[in-house]
Amino acid sequence: QTKAPEQKGRHAFRLSFEFFPPKSLEMEAHLWESVSDFTEWDPEFVSVTYGAGGSTKAPTFSTIQRLMSDTPMATASHLTCVDAAREETLAVIEELRAAGVRHIVALRGDPSAGIGTAYQPHPEGYANAADLVAALKDVGGFEISVSAYPEKHPESTDTNADIEMLKRKADNGADRALTQFFFDNDVFERYMDKVRAAGITLPVVPGIMPIQNLSMLKRFAGRCGSTVPEFLDRRFAGTEDDAVARAEVAADVAAEQIQDLIRRGLGEFHIYTMNRSALTNAVLERLGRQRVSVKEGAVA
Ligand code: FAD
Repeated sequence: QTKAPEQKGRHAFRLSFEFFPPKSLEMEAHLWESVSDFTEWDPEFVSVTYGAGGSTKAPTFSTIQRLMSDTPMATASHLTCVDAAREETLAVIEELRAAGVRHIVALRGDPSAGIGTAYQPHPEGYANAADLVAALKDVGGFEISVSAYPEKHPESTDTNADIEMLKRKADNGADRALTQFFFDNDVFERYMDKVRAAGITLPVVPGIMPIQNLSMLKRFAGRCGSTVPEFLDRRFAGTEDDAVARAEVAADVAAEQIQDLIRRGLGEFHIYTMNRSALTNAVLERLGRQRVSVKEGAVA
């Protein structure tokens, strides 16, 4: 469902946006108020997360359906295989196809007993994301994205184990990897050197997390395997009681990170939007990206 190549090239870099299914009416309002902004940034695709074990299946589906009916954005669904028998996962894949979805972000998902506990595959399920990718390839007709972890997945013994899993996902037919968020571009570059040295040619798209709230980020980053470097404390120092200043710093930090990655030769970014456009707008404005008029399909 990625746009035709002739539509690429009007921007200096390509974009995708990640959303999660809103958990309340208030959160739903945030997303739908933001959606015209997101559309105007002309992403290659947007994706909607899927709760492990199918816990958000209904809201994920309804969010995808509304995005597909109300916006021109190519919409991908995340799909996890944790806690599901193969038949159940295959049934969800068919439901996604029937709903018009042609791009799946294929994931294993977190252990059902909680992050940090040992992962137990469902006895009749897919053991990991590489197996899910192979199943999706057998089913056919889907573009497939997968995860990648520049700082390694918390369960992995070492980076090599992680890269081995990425290789399996690539060999089984994944089209691109989207990374877990990270803030140190040197770490990403070292990771990419290892990925390429392992013979993996898959496009690896940096996941960028504009920081809505540094304290909250610190609480969950560790569980995702992402480091929050000390320089961020210095950048946000003194903004604790000033939401406007905080947002300015957050936009500066994310825009500088993307700018630096562009200098290093990267041309595509996956933004964790948290369903709100204000911060994403500020980041993309700093980078000089042109909005595209939704009605005319032309650069505004
Ligand atoms: P895999 O690719 O199968 O494995 C990831 C790494 O973990 C591997 O590199 C491997 O080294 C290691 N590993 C895997 N299994 C084991 C094991 N048994 N023992 C030791 N090491 C192991 N979660 C959701 O619930 N819903 C989402 O929509 C969602 N979207 C995501 C999108 C992106 C871009 C990313 C980066 C993550 C997302 N996640 C999501 C989180 C993801 O489900 C978790 O990180 C999960 O723990 C691993 O899933 P995976 O597909 O990355 O696993």
